[in-house]
Amino acid sequence: MELIDGKKISNEKREEIREKVEKIKRQTGKAPGLATILVGKNLASQIYIKSKIKACENVGIKSFHYNLYENSSKEEIINLIKKLNENSEIDGILLQLPLPQNKDAQDYINSINPSKDVDGLHPFNAGLLNLLKSWDEIIKKNILVPCTPLGIMHLLSKSSTEVASKTAVIIGRSNLVGKPLSMLLLSKNATVIITHSKTKNLKEICKSADIVIAAIGKPNFINKEFIKNGIALIDVGINRVSDKICGDVNFESVKDMDIKITTVPGGVGPMTITMLLENTLKAFYSRK
Ligand code: NAP
Repeated sequence: MELIDGKKISNEKREEIREKVEKIKRQTGKAPGLATILVGKNLASQIYIKSKIKACENVGIKSFHYNLYENSSKEEIINLIKKLNENSEIDGILLQLPLPQNKDAQDYINSINPSKDVDGLHPFNAGLLNLLKSWDEIIKKNILVPCTPLGIMHLLSKSSTEVASKTAVIIGRSNLVGKPLSMLLLSKNATVIITHSKTKNLKEICKSADIVIAAIGKPNFINKEFIKNGIALIDVGINRVSDKICGDVNFESVKDMDIKITTVPGGVGPMTITMLLENTLKAFYSRK
């Protein structure tokens, strides 16, 4: 087994971002800015937001945080987003998900200015991602792509995992992870299979893969019966089991196999936050 060290890879990337932010500050006297919005008091969301704000501070990005009441009206939330759209100090806007139960996230995401949509979930950015053909285009055109899939591509690249002409199986088809990841892998010429809860023969399909990405949200779901030796196994899941965090992969079951693997925590999680910083920088460059 070879560990894909998300923490180390992420720290190296954050150092690059920090240097770029410093250069921007020297040249313009201003820092890129990220606004975060939390609606309600979801405990996990509060922890994620704290880590995002801290990560911003560490690389010199200015952060602006807004906490709204759980019962805030649609109008109140959208008015705040509109104000942030107009604020020239703010380059990126992140609406922390999930929203409280009765609110459909997309209604709110649609009101974020696409040039500030650092989560890459606005239909404009999601559409662009689907229309582009190559990875080079994504990079050259500074497209805002969802942070977790972007982080996974970075982990694959830094762990020298070949993607072109390889079979990648994604388990999970969410707008946040599975779907955009499929586009990114396609842009690097992988053969992509997306699976979900209605997929039959999941084990057989996974066994055919060179790369398996588990984004399911079910603790320890993937074990050694799903995979063959020689693959890269990326665990996106964040599950809380008796006060501990674990992934979608049963690490104990696969740890003696000849595979490359990420851990939870310390794998995709830190990369996701790093890509949020990267997207804020992208938004800054595009808007200037
Ligand atoms: P989601 O929207 O709940 O999607 C889960 C996906 O898994 C769905 O497509 C679902 O299929 C599929 N699924 C459920 N049971 C399955 C089964 N038995 N076999 C095959 N597929 C199955 O979740 P998400 O937002 O993509 O997140 C997935 C996990 O990643 C969660 O644990 C989340 O906390 C974690 N996450 C981590 C990060 C990070 O930074 N590390 C970022 C985002 C998410 P259907 O579509 O058919 O229901």
